[in-house]
Amino acid sequence: MSLSSTITIGGHVSAAGGPSNAPGRASVFSFNTFQIFSKNQMQWKSKPLPEEEIKRFADEVKSHSMRNTMVHASYLLNLGTSDPSLKEKALNGMKVELERIELLGMDLLTFHPGSSKGITEKESLKNIAEALNQVLFKEQKSKILLETAAGQGSNVGYNFEQLAEIIDQISLKDKVGICFDTCHVWASGYDIKSPEGYAETMDSFDSTLGLDRLNGFHLNDSKKGTGSRVDRHEQIGQGTLGMDGISNFVNDRRFRNVPMILETPRGEEGYDEDLKVIRGVFQEER
Ligand SMILES: [Zn+2]
Ligand SMILES: [Zn+2]
Repeated sequence: MSLSSTITIGGHVSAAGGPSNAPGRASVFSFNTFQIFSKNQMQWKSKPLPEEEIKRFADEVKSHSMRNTMVHASYLLNLGTSDPSLKEKALNGMKVELERIELLGMDLLTFHPGSSKGITEKESLKNIAEALNQVLFKEQKSKILLETAAGQGSNVGYNFEQLAEIIDQISLKDKVGICFDTCHVWASGYDIKSPEGYAETMDSFDSTLGLDRLNGFHLNDSKKGTGSRVDRHEQIGQGTLGMDGISNFVNDRRFRNVPMILETPRGEEGYDEDLKVIRGVFQEER
């Protein structure tokens, strides 16, 4: 039985030449899901998506049997800011991201909650919720996922309580979820490596946020240790989280339909090796 007939596994792939090229790129690795940037993530500006491209994208997703697909929002967005001009930029940026994912008919829009630079964390969490309240809409088909942060610098969202504090202040709660980045959660100080630590972490996630909000994973190993609060991804099995840590996730039957997206440093060059390691720890179902 192949990995992708059991779990929902993919990687971040290039959308060069247009998003419609992404499903084909993902299928090279036998992925059944993928993540892209729907626009240049280092720029505010974007070209509109032509109608033929949208149509071609939908056909490609279907013909390669991709599901629960993810967009990663621009790194520039900081919905946590209190600075009026930055706030407006972030808000508009998020609206564009949402518009694009809706046009593409993709499922999950993951973003980094934001930074509390110059203000309190509490204020920052409130800003993020307020911004989302302005962006989310009832007819929206996709979900916006808050990504767990490593706690580097002044970034917020590095524990489950902070993420819950944001969601508590959101009106359209069914439009939001969490993207659990294994590198970030480990770096922020949760033990997800030992079986007991993993069980405890997931229990804590469940009681704070609810496991039904866990709608996506970024499956990464980490260069730095737990509690380092440093966000440096590593190839699967080659970091401090190691094969034991990764094994907890890919063998957890509760998450069979939750996309696990590789964001390892070598990107498409390294996915075959990442998958080899995952297959090595994956326990076939009997
Ligand atoms: Zn991210
Ligand atoms: Zn990261």
